[in-house]
Amino acid sequence: MNTLNQTHDPKLRSWVASANQGGCDFPIQNLPFGRFRTAGSGAALRIGVAIGDQVLDLRSTGLIHTDDMNALMAASPLDRQALRAAISAGLAEGSGQQGAWQGALLAQSALEMAVPCHIGDYTDFYTGIHHATTVGKLFRPDNPLMPNYKWVPIGYHGRASSIGVSGQHFKRPQGQTKAPDAAVPSFGPSKRLDYELELGYFIGRGNALGEPIPIQEAEQHLFGVTLFNDWSARDLQAWEYQPLGPFLAKNFASTVSPWIVTMEALAPFRSAAYARDAGDPQPLPYLDSAADREAGGLDVVLEVWLQTAQMRAAGQGSVRLTRGLSKQAAYWTAAQLVTHHTVNGCNLQPGDLLGSGTLSGPKPDEAGSLLELTLGGKNQITLPNGESHTFLEDGDTLTLRGYCERAGAVRIGLGECAGTVLPAVATPAA
Ligand code: MN
Repeated sequence: MNTLNQTHDPKLRSWVASANQGGCDFPIQNLPFGRFRTAGSGAALRIGVAIGDQVLDLRSTGLIHTDDMNALMAASPLDRQALRAAISAGLAEGSGQQGAWQGALLAQSALEMAVPCHIGDYTDFYTGIHHATTVGKLFRPDNPLMPNYKWVPIGYHGRASSIGVSGQHFKRPQGQTKAPDAAVPSFGPSKRLDYELELGYFIGRGNALGEPIPIQEAEQHLFGVTLFNDWSARDLQAWEYQPLGPFLAKNFASTVSPWIVTMEALAPFRSAAYARDAGDPQPLPYLDSAADREAGGLDVVLEVWLQTAQMRAAGQGSVRLTRGLSKQAAYWTAAQLVTHHTVNGCNLQPGDLLGSGTLSGPKPDEAGSLLELTLGGKNQITLPNGESHTFLEDGDTLTLRGYCERAGAVRIGLGECAGTVLPAVATPAA
């Protein structure tokens, strides 16, 4: 686990004035990595570090000599810590680098961000126990959790090609659905389009095929965290998911936030692993370590915001649907996911993305999806402008936000992860 050092010092301030404003997502204690280009330029992507409302072009500082984020992610933990220390020292108030680095700063508002690295493979897990329980209840009221849930981190291999960055617009998916009372399926646009509030864990150093990552070493293979929206077409999902799991219900689009907040930056915001009920099994030894039990969790406040097309037309901003805490939601830690994923010898590679699964809190107003918030579409949500909603409508912009706050530390943010639903493509003629 990363220890606290001078880069986390709450007294540290930056010569970039906007970074020192209270409530800023990107103070000098954060220093997340992303890939950018000047908006509309079509230029090659470069690696940047967010600081206040600016981006530090990292290659221009001379600290790195690559535009390849995956190569940077593959660095050893010691090299990563050294890079973070150098960036922090250069951006700190009174730094001798200020003159030289001023020219390496670019306003975030002038930039376009990309998916923060090349994602070779993407796996989505199901660690949100309240989500799994609530959704399970909709189908199996007496036995909501499957018998394997508390023994094995449940996951499936997703698709990386359709993962986009915040600001993504995507067409409503269409496909096969079958109403419970219908004899045969029908084809058309999804009527139950949903979001899933998740954290994305990015892999740093990988492992060789055939060489599992022990739980004691798993943290060293994690590079950092993003917000992740695993858009889901519930009606497609219900018809297709047995026996092999999600397929077209989830691979039409997924969205990440542009900034990877590093495990180093998150060091002040670690928490104990999920507090299992007395009757729950303990993790099998290969998924258990004292360090992971003590501090394997992440303490992130997670919010979901919605702006409908009607709100946008009326000049109204987003409304918050829910707010919850990741540490109350995730039954398995990120380290346990890494270890479980590789225990059979599967190789993870730098830039691979592991989705946490929907991180719903224990209370109904902490739900991480509309499936839960509307109890399977039965309850409508009434928005402040009088509109009612069950699932997502065309024109909706759904935004995830996340931040970490703790006494004795400076608040850091994960930024935001927004996506907008466009109408479905015209259905092909029958
Ligand atoms: Mn998911």
